[in-house]
Amino acid sequence: MHPLFDSHAHYDDHRFAEEFEGGVDGAIRAAHEAGVDYIANIGSSLRSSRNSVELADRYDFIYATVGLHPYDAQQIDAADLDSALHQVEELTKHGKVRAIGEIGLDYHYDGTDKERQSYFFSAQMEIAQKVGLPVIIHSRDAAGDTFDMIRRYPQVKGILHSYSGTAEMARQLCDMGWYISFSGPVTYKNAAKVKESAAIVPDDKLLIETDCPYLPPVPHRGELNYSGYLHFTCQGVADARGADYDTVAKLTYENAKRFFRIS
Ligand SMILES: [Zn+2]
Repeated sequence: MHPLFDSHAHYDDHRFAEEFEGGVDGAIRAAHEAGVDYIANIGSSLRSSRNSVELADRYDFIYATVGLHPYDAQQIDAADLDSALHQVEELTKHGKVRAIGEIGLDYHYDGTDKERQSYFFSAQMEIAQKVGLPVIIHSRDAAGDTFDMIRRYPQVKGILHSYSGTAEMARQLCDMGWYISFSGPVTYKNAAKVKESAAIVPDDKLLIETDCPYLPPVPHRGELNYSGYLHFTCQGVADARGADYDTVAKLTYENAKRFFRIS
């Protein structure tokens, strides 16, 4: 079987230390032994961004991204907004930081501060443009506003991660040079829309991810997810495309290496 690239993981999440046998390092080693050659560890807060960089320092096959997730951005005190953004920009100077993310919009829960989310999304798009890095976007129940923001920064490209939008929007984003990444839900029975998108993304824009410890694929729903389960998602994407496993494994591996600039 062709090795895999997990384009979106959160090994700094406390659940790995608490619930996985051998903790964070146990999970990472088990994933690597299971055929996951590379992992992108994704920052979502200042703390997790720093932890991502530390993991990238510790493991040659881990690369980092740094950024403020829309929820984490809502937790920052009004007085610290600019300092938080400055720290994100400083962290991009580390050699193994290959993208800004995850950033974006999430309107799913009550108490959403759309203005605050939009401020951080836009400010981090500007940092990406300034430092010349791509972005990783989290978008939930906010497809229209996310697409508007993307169009405001035509020079910035990136990944729509754990994609849950329409196939039509996926097609438009790919035409604009963006990548689309699929996670566990592509294996769920009721995820017709996700499968439809997975079927139409062009070969050179397709990625897979775990988003672990979240979104475990079938047959591990309800468990702690980790990169060792990525092959289920790879098979789910292959099924949606009428392709075989190795074809999708190889495509997504090469696309992720290109995106994260790994030679
Ligand atoms: Zn994530």
